[in-house]
Amino acid sequence: MDRGKVEKELKGQLNALFKSMDFVSKNFLNNEKISKREAQVFFNIYQQLGLAWEFLGLQCSHWDGYKRTRDKKEACKICGKINGTDDFYILLPKKGLKKLGVKVNPN
Ligand SMILES: [Zn+2]
Repeated sequence: MDRGKVEKELKGQLNALFKSMDFVSKNFLNNEKISKREAQVFFNIYQQLGLAWEFLGLQCSHWDGYKRTRDKKEACKICGKINGTDDFYILLPKKGLKKLGVKVNPN
């Protein structure tokens, strides 16, 4: 697959993922009408989406550059990763085999 195709596919996947995360967050995470038990289920779903975000982010080469965030950092326009930091909720090793379900401690 050529770079343009990869980039387009990744952007599409990330946009869909961000919409899903927003939906769960807006409708269920701060909803006082649902039980604590249900809220925990939605919290877990949100965490799993976060894991998918991180996985997709590993494939991003930040082709479109960065935009300024409110706290004056630079975030990738595609994946949202902050420029110059590695501590973006690291669950997956940056190099080597990605093994889901195993927590990796940052070095
Ligand atoms: Zn990026």
